[in-house]
Amino acid sequence: MSDENVTLETARETMVADLTAYIEQETPSDDLELLRRGFDWVQDFLESRLGAPEMSERHEDDVHGPVGVNVYGARNGATGNVAVLCHYDTVWPAGTLSNWPVTIEGDRLTGPGCFDMKAGLVQFVWGLKTAYESGLPVPRVSLVLNGDEEIGSPASRPIIEQVAREADAVLVFEASADAAVKTARKGVGMFRVEVAGVESHAGLDPERGVSAIDEVSRVVRSLHDAADLNAGTSVNVGLISGGSRSNVTAGHAEGQVDVRVSTQAEADRIDALLEGLEPHNPAASIHVTGEWNRPVMPRTEGNARLYTLAREEAGALGFDLAEISVGGASDGNFASALGLPVLDGLGAVGEGAHARHEWVSVDGMVQRAALAARMLLRLAQ
Ligand SMILES: [Zn+2]
Repeated sequence: MSDENVTLETARETMVADLTAYIEQETPSDDLELLRRGFDWVQDFLESRLGAPEMSERHEDDVHGPVGVNVYGARNGATGNVAVLCHYDTVWPAGTLSNWPVTIEGDRLTGPGCFDMKAGLVQFVWGLKTAYESGLPVPRVSLVLNGDEEIGSPASRPIIEQVAREADAVLVFEASADAAVKTARKGVGMFRVEVAGVESHAGLDPERGVSAIDEVSRVVRSLHDAADLNAGTSVNVGLISGGSRSNVTAGHAEGQVDVRVSTQAEADRIDALLEGLEPHNPAASIHVTGEWNRPVMPRTEGNARLYTLAREEAGALGFDLAEISVGGASDGNFASALGLPVLDGLGAVGEGAHARHEWVSVDGMVQRAALAARMLLRLAQ
């Protein structure tokens, strides 16, 4: 067994206790008071495990949770500069813990936000602590803590970009996918298609009405037909609404659309389609709003290089580390769009992001904390 594993095996119970206490701080993306409290808890936790950072910034926002940047200085002559991204918000509303407390059965720990991504932060912290204890050179680490990732990182995006720009490599401790790290992520667009028709009495005046529901249905067909799974493009109108009563020709209808793409060319194709939507009946009108929330994160050479390092280090720890390309986006997409090498999915081993059966492997926490330690050491120069 490697030294890292020995150190972290002894710390197993403490890591579990850290994660449990962290999950017990509920941090839903839309509850500012809880986010502020959770953020303070995280800072205290970081200080207790890593000591005071060399520099710590706290960016307050009126709506979204505080965004923190903690800089931990290089040690023992290291020159590397690594950005680490961790969000502390979860999709789970306040009160979820009362009917879903943290429980551990065998190797499985479950609780709201454990997999996405509270275990990831705990693993990173223990990884950095272990790297320090090795006495070897450890790079400068700028840790971003944001509380708005689950709603698209509106407040934290510029801060994430600024920190990433100053780094040589970006490590994202979002959860793994079937234990694989993520070297590519799709870009995500979120759009709303609104249709205005003309209301009329559906029985007395059918020829006067222009049905917005008829129009939005045709839009749904053309958008779904534009999906190209071979090219990596999915299109889902996941929500439609409209009309007022069955005997009234619908004057308004709308659809909400989620688009995922693997290439910029596909994003451009979907943009053109959305811009070119024409009503079937010229008396109706179509209005599209929304945007590409996160750009495509392609499997760049830089990402592949970080993966190779991680795989070598995993091999030294006695396990094989796979890589995967996924449809979900993260803050890693923002860093990637700036041209930086990004390795994502370094966090929890487990399953069930955003789902009630979310769980993490405790063995996985120990293993991935050891991997985090080794990755940081590899990036020292
Ligand atoms: Zn996440």
